[in-house]
Amino acid sequence: MKIEELIKELDPVSIIEFKNYLIENLSELCKTKNSNSKIISNHRDSNVICKHCNIRMSKNGKTKNRVQKYICSSCNYTCSETTDTIVSHSHLSFDVWRNVIDNLLDGFSIRRIAEENNVSIYTSFRLRHKVLLALKNYVKSVELKGNAQSDEKYFSINLKRTKAKNMPRYSKKRTSTKSPYRGISHHKVCTVSSIDDDDNLILEIVGLGRCTTEMLENALGSKVDKVNNLNADSASAYQKFCKNHNITLNAIPSGKHSNGNINISKINGVHSQLETWLSKFKGVSIRHLQEYLDWFVFIYSMKKKFSLNKLKTESYNTIVLDNNYIKANDIIKLQMPIDLNIAYAEYQHQS
Ligand SMILES: [Zn+2]
Repeated sequence: MKIEELIKELDPVSIIEFKNYLIENLSELCKTKNSNSKIISNHRDSNVICKHCNIRMSKNGKTKNRVQKYICSSCNYTCSETTDTIVSHSHLSFDVWRNVIDNLLDGFSIRRIAEENNVSIYTSFRLRHKVLLALKNYVKSVELKGNAQSDEKYFSINLKRTKAKNMPRYSKKRTSTKSPYRGISHHKVCTVSSIDDDDNLILEIVGLGRCTTEMLENALGSKVDKVNNLNADSASAYQKFCKNHNITLNAIPSGKHSNGNINISKINGVHSQLETWLSKFKGVSIRHLQEYLDWFVFIYSMKKKFSLNKLKTESYNTIVLDNNYIKANDIIKLQMPIDLNIAYAEYQHQS
């Protein structure tokens, strides 16, 4: 039964008592150790399926924090309500998770998140990366439709916090400072950015140097089935891409911002917002750049979709209710999205 219906059954005196009880105990009620699992349990359909045998699992008691456990009758695999979610193995309650996610939407630093939520800097760092990685599933599901605009954005390679032994080394024998690459060199990281009329947004690192049809395929190929028109520059990469996908290309001549009514002002507006937002972080390492782009996409989409008073809960739901569990140890093992050996190919690696 829905909570509204339950309350309607009560008499007015009980309703007032219930209201006072809630006001007095609200924060305690949201702080229980099984608060996350209760929410997950409410959202999950009642069948928990074994990930090995694909059959329904049976209830198997509760943990000491009163989180429901399950067992598979075929392979004896056991799991709990929070297994494979980002709150798995977390001792933090619903209100802390919800608040951390909200702080991240506000772009708070790791230090500030630690202070606001009374957790250590280390925990704050891990929470932030867990949430940012969890956004991936959401961001990956974004598709474009109808009319869309596309452009590229180029970033310099930032190797902040890369260990010295992993840095590309510059050969002292370098004689020429002239790059063999003209214009946008392979020292720039290329990101494809596209948006449609409904504010579905894609920002993805595709590689080094100027954008190619192959890069467009990787970033957008599976996401444009429902796109009819695409505004983009007239570069041959877009011409081939649009032909492959039966999309009408509204090409803007190179060096111009528009061609009559055809423009890419919406995606360029997103680029300016992105630049302002990224500048708060004083340099983002290339290793983490895609996470920051995902983070930006998530904030942009949530703010377009939900009113301010729903933002906090909807963001929590989107992140926690997905199966996004990642081990803390895997966070630092993230691969570089680009190949540094290619980026610095003309600087011979010293042996
Ligand atoms: Zn099984």
